[in-house]
Amino acid sequence: MKTFLSLALVGAILGGCTTVPYTNRKQFNLVSQGEEDQMGAQAYAEVKAKNPLSKDASINAMVNRVGDRFAKVSSRPDFKWEFVVIDDAKTLNAFCLPGGKVAVYTGILPETKTEEGLEVVMAHEVAHALARHGAERMSQQIAVGSAEKLAVSTGLLKSQAEMQIFEMAYGVGVGLPHGRSQESEADHIGLILMAKAGYDPNEAIPFWQRMKAASGGQKPPEFLSTHPSDETRIKKIREQLPEALKHYKPQ
Ligand SMILES: [Zn+2]
Repeated sequence: MKTFLSLALVGAILGGCTTVPYTNRKQFNLVSQGEEDQMGAQAYAEVKAKNPLSKDASINAMVNRVGDRFAKVSSRPDFKWEFVVIDDAKTLNAFCLPGGKVAVYTGILPETKTEEGLEVVMAHEVAHALARHGAERMSQQIAVGSAEKLAVSTGLLKSQAEMQIFEMAYGVGVGLPHGRSQESEADHIGLILMAKAGYDPNEAIPFWQRMKAASGGQKPPEFLSTHPSDETRIKKIREQLPEALKHYKPQ
């Protein structure tokens, strides 16, 4: 009860509410886009410094080609979009940080298999950033954990602990699984992005079916542990497809 009250209080004081592009959902958000972009740039610089970048010209060209198409049609063409490929065959992961900072690990490529599969993953990850899902989750944690401190200082966001929550929220290193509703919203926005970019959003179905088959092992890798693929997810995507297909102009 106390937690709920302080959450409502912080929301009331700071008017912390933003609207998700594409779905128009109102989200509780205490983090400004500027703050989020700054943390995104910092986390991205760290990832690039700590990991070997792929020198494979054709993989880099593919990731940039797909990413550029999403950047152009996205709700934030003004982001300083950047795409890197991390040469790490053991890591099955990809993420997009606020400000349009995208990383694809080579380990996910055997799973995405085709350029269409990569489009599905990148559209979904870009959607999380456009929908500001990490900021939303950070805001919930801040509100629950340290409402009073936050009211005193917004500089708090740059502390080590907040940076860690931020990175986990966006799937850098060990990611927290997104909530079901955020996952579904990222699928939904991802399908629209694909359609707007001239990619066939129907490709999402075989991709998630493949992920469902791949997650049968005992220890699913990062992307699958944070993105469980099951019948419910695939069914939801089927329901979201007709709306996305309205935006589809094949190229
Ligand atoms: Zn996701």
